[in-house]
Amino acid sequence: MLDTLAKVVIIGAGFGGMEAAKSLKRAPAAVTVIDRQNHHCFQPLLYQVATAALSPADIAWPIRHILRKQNNATVLMAEVCGIDTSKRLVQVDSVTIPYDYLVLATGATHSYFGHDEWADVAPGLKRIEDATRIRRHILIAFERAELTNDPAERARLLTFAIVGGGATGVEMPGAISEVGRQSLAMDFRRIDPTAARIVLIEAGPRIMPTLPENLSDYVQRTLAKKGVEVMTSTRVMSCDTRGVALENGRLDAATIIWAAGVVASPAARWLGAKPDRAGRVKVAADLSVPGHPEIFVIGDTAVVTDQPGIPGTAPAAKQMGRYVGRLIAARVDGKDTPPPFRYHHLGELATIGRHAEARQA
Ligand SMILES: Cc1cc2nc3c(=O)[nH]c(=O)nc-3n(C[C@H](O)[C@H](O)[C@H](O)COP(=O)(O)OP(=O)(O)OC[C@H]3O[C@@H](n4cnc5c(N)ncnc54)[C@H](O)[C@@H]3O)c2cc1C
Repeated sequence: MLDTLAKVVIIGAGFGGMEAAKSLKRAPAAVTVIDRQNHHCFQPLLYQVATAALSPADIAWPIRHILRKQNNATVLMAEVCGIDTSKRLVQVDSVTIPYDYLVLATGATHSYFGHDEWADVAPGLKRIEDATRIRRHILIAFERAELTNDPAERARLLTFAIVGGGATGVEMPGAISEVGRQSLAMDFRRIDPTAARIVLIEAGPRIMPTLPENLSDYVQRTLAKKGVEVMTSTRVMSCDTRGVALENGRLDAATIIWAAGVVASPAARWLGAKPDRAGRVKVAADLSVPGHPEIFVIGDTAVVTDQPGIPGTAPAAKQMGRYVGRLIAARVDGKDTPPPFRYHHLGELATIGRHAEARQA
């Protein structure tokens, strides 16, 4: 039965892809969802896993389980490496998967601005594996600080540098400060975890630049109350195993967390399309790729040509996924397609540790 239906392939089971799949629930279509992970990850809470406040299972759910009641959906765990748009085939490992409609929702990843070698010493936070790696790093830094007899090395081990003052960068230091000031405060004998030095480094003149100035001032004051040092207008020149070189000086830090930039997944390369500066595929008002009405790109991988200001957030990805799911459902059912996509901004919220938030409606 599924063989005779329109084949819809969705690549990526993040916020956008999952929403697209669910919106096709009642459509006469055979939906295939492909993801390189077996789980959907709630990325906004990754920093809580990285600081041991939550466990990985609290923020990740098996994709198969989420879609188990959707009979027209098949889930495949595989890494997509290419697309043949003329033959309408998706390439995964040595297998090809045919499609009539294709939805690309493969998200974004960290950008080291041409210095990928920094990734080893300054991990970014994007996947569960990143969060558990950072968590291990933070906890081991406290353990090694307890062990060493060298005061300078102890100070370095208890220094945590976060590079990038956007939403992710701002949430991490507040949470690390709580690890030292609350979770571990009583656990050590030779060191004082509450004295850990946490430094947020931002190249621009203020943190959270997408928020109005008064809110970004509020975030900075709240971080200061939690003992976080904020360095603005400070460019990181390089990262190494002992710390970061700054434009004017150096910060010795055993833990460096990279939150300074993102770049879209390589979907533009797969499609042979010219990306924007952030690597995103430029899509039309119905989120399709120009010249390919059967291919849609959504979420962090897409920039809508007539609405370039749509932020790279979960609500935006979900709205795009829902729209594309409905549009494809209407097409395969021979119904009228919806009007062009319109993004609805629901506000912004950043959590700065427990009991503190910056919110803009
Ligand atoms: C640490 C962090 C904190 C954040 N906090 C917030 C927040 O507080 N609020 C907010 O609104 N947004 C937040 N975001 C942004 C938000 O998570 C993203 O905008 C959103 O996830 C984008 O959805 P998406 O569907 O485009 O991509 P994603 O949700 O990233 O999903 C992409 C999926 O594609 C899969 N994939 C990628 N490449 C391949 C491939 N080659 N083959 C197969 N599968 C592939 C991935 O495994 C992933 O499951 C945060 C992001 C991060 C990293």
